[in-house]
Amino acid sequence: MLKIMAVNAGSSSLKFKLMNMPEESVITEGVIERIGAEDAYYTIKINGNKQKQVLPVRNHSEAVNLLLNDLVGKNIVASLMEIKGIGHRIVQGGAYFSDSALITPKAIEIIRDYCSLAPLHNPANLIAIEAFQNALPGVPNVAVFDTSFHQTMEPEAYMYAVPYEWYTKYNIRKYGFHGTSHKYVSHKIAEVLGKPLADLKVITLHIGNGASIAAIKNGKVVDTSMGLTPLEGIPMGTRSGNIDPTIVEFICNKEHLSVSQVLAILNKKSGYLGVSGFWNDSRDLEEEVAKGNARCRLALDVQYKRIVDYIGSYYLYMGGLDVLVFTAGIGENSISFRKDIINRLGALGIVLDEEANNTRGKIKEITKPESKVRAFIVPTDEEVMIARDTVRLANL
Ligand code: ADP
Repeated sequence: MLKIMAVNAGSSSLKFKLMNMPEESVITEGVIERIGAEDAYYTIKINGNKQKQVLPVRNHSEAVNLLLNDLVGKNIVASLMEIKGIGHRIVQGGAYFSDSALITPKAIEIIRDYCSLAPLHNPANLIAIEAFQNALPGVPNVAVFDTSFHQTMEPEAYMYAVPYEWYTKYNIRKYGFHGTSHKYVSHKIAEVLGKPLADLKVITLHIGNGASIAAIKNGKVVDTSMGLTPLEGIPMGTRSGNIDPTIVEFICNKEHLSVSQVLAILNKKSGYLGVSGFWNDSRDLEEEVAKGNARCRLALDVQYKRIVDYIGSYYLYMGGLDVLVFTAGIGENSISFRKDIINRLGALGIVLDEEANNTRGKIKEITKPESKVRAFIVPTDEEVMIARDTVRLANL
């Protein structure tokens, strides 16, 4: 049995999951939040019990050392030598990485080069890689990119209609994100249907706080809704998704804000939160809608309408659709979300099975046998993908 650590480092957080491979069973998981603060939070789940501590964690190195010492201290591992590989979720792999990659000095250099495309994410990922390399010398680290599954898109799908030099000089193009999740659920649905992914037309809806959609034809992503950054696409918990770019200049002038300030609003104060005025969690919105809150209804409807726009466009682009997959926090858990989306897709001949849809968080077909397109809930598991790729690329 191999113990593999899957790591997802954000600018001020470090999520981890220690897994036994190839069984894919979880040994322990948790998160260190508010890294940089005197009162950071450290949460770890052992045998189903959550333990939470508040303590100072100055940087990612301290976070990694805290975690590794605790794994030994709590006898989760007898020695750190038991950890045979570390897989890191890296947000931006650019056009260079069309697959996960073993972390070498060259890989680090390229990930660093892409920091300008993902200034909030790639630097944190690099700090976490270095911290693990220092703490566990000789143990292989593997990078698993959010972007690499989408690298199969044709230029007509990933190019923006802007001056071509922006692409050649600055790599401005669509990359897409959540690739690890889109890959996991598309492979899983092929397995469930007992057909090769190469024979299927699939649309995967990864709808959580962040949300993106992918069109996967014959095993290859042909289009996806996020772009150069995760801001593009459908409205999300706090992100606007697509808007007319001139709104940025207009609001800069009216509210005396900088471009960066307006972009922060589009990332953090828009979407569900912006339209509803108060709520970014779909559960709160659904509760408010039940009480008759029209702004919350509108926040959901604006998103649902755009999701259906994408599905319609991908249906035409792929020349049909075999299966629609719902995943991530909202896709897996919100009964009313799935019902509303499927009911808006009547033109495709999709017929919801209301009873089957009345479920959360497990693999389930939610359309009736006569439905022309099948729809399923498929819970995502990005950490399993990270652990699998770590084993594969580190040759473990
Ligand atoms: P991210 O990983 O992008 O932070 P998640 O995939 O965890 O986001 O999704 C968070 C969203 O999922 C929230 O809007 C939350 O309300 C929703 N969600 C989670 N569980 C449920 C549930 N049981 N019912 C409805 N929505 C849920």
